[in-house]
Amino acid sequence: MRVELKKIYKYPFLEETKDYIRDSDISLEDITEIGFSEILERGKRRILDALDGKEHVYDKPEREIFSYSTANIMLSCIKDDYLIKRYALFESKRVYKSMVKEDDKFIERVDQSLGVRSERDNKEYKIHFTDYLRYGTGMRDPRWKLINKRVCKGYVYLSKENFLRILQEAYRRKINDDLPLNVPDEICKRMRGNINEIKKKLNEKKASFMRYEFSEINKDHFPPCMKFLVSEIKRGSNISHSGRFALTSFLSSVGMSRDEIIKIYRSSPDFDEEKTRYQVEHITGSSGTVYRCPSCATMKTYGNCIGEDEDCRWVSNPMGRYYKGLKKQLSTNLHQGAGYPR
Ligand code: SF4
Repeated sequence: MRVELKKIYKYPFLEETKDYIRDSDISLEDITEIGFSEILERGKRRILDALDGKEHVYDKPEREIFSYSTANIMLSCIKDDYLIKRYALFESKRVYKSMVKEDDKFIERVDQSLGVRSERDNKEYKIHFTDYLRYGTGMRDPRWKLINKRVCKGYVYLSKENFLRILQEAYRRKINDDLPLNVPDEICKRMRGNINEIKKKLNEKKASFMRYEFSEINKDHFPPCMKFLVSEIKRGSNISHSGRFALTSFLSSVGMSRDEIIKIYRSSPDFDEEKTRYQVEHITGSSGTVYRCPSCATMKTYGNCIGEDEDCRWVSNPMGRYYKGLKKQLSTNLHQGAGYPR
């Protein structure tokens, strides 16, 4: 069992891992007792690591195996959407890195536990296209588009690396879907010290990306679609590739600098400074082409036209909707003897 434990402790969703916890006879109440403070500490550390984006290797199987459930309980007591999303992404990336080192036989156990139906076909994995649509279409890179994959008789063929990314995504969604759990107040109270520490860090994090508030640009006149995209980022949601493209080109067109645009993306749970800078610079002209904000028709096609209102009538591009708002404001100001809107 010891050798097996060394293997399974990194994968909290495996049936064997759950069985191990069940068979241990350690209850939720027990974990909050003094004797288990190391497990509480480790559970908290996992969440703080996700907030800091720092990865530590924890390799004490007996302790780690309980620290996942402890982290889930703490997240459930805090009930913060952004924190759960951030943790889910960080934790799923950790599992991906572990899976890369596993053999195919073990990967089979992983995919069954995550409910992804797959089969090996020589060096590739094939998964049913419904599973692919479920987990692969959220990936931003165009290489994940179904049209760029080999599809045969309802199955999508993937390299091992791509298949593990699908499992990563399935695990990320599972955490997002499962949390928050229904945890009794009494248990949350017993973990108060650790929970307060996490909340403090979370508030610092949120304050750092809320500091930037469009001081120079008149965001009141942003079209509803752009307001929606910004609010999604601030809520900690990942927005689609087409949404990022539209928002970046729009913000650049209304006069925001590259650094200012990058700051907005900072609150995304998967923020990666280097990648974001590359994308923002590319869209705003580093390649020699400055991309214009997509038209309303394109926004509709990609599902990014959200909140269309009365002022969207007769405009064909979100920029037109922005200028329309500015013009309206200008005429009101002139009427009232005030100055130009910014
Ligand atoms: S109609 Fe155009 S400007 Fe208005 S919400 Fe849709 S995409 Fe945005």
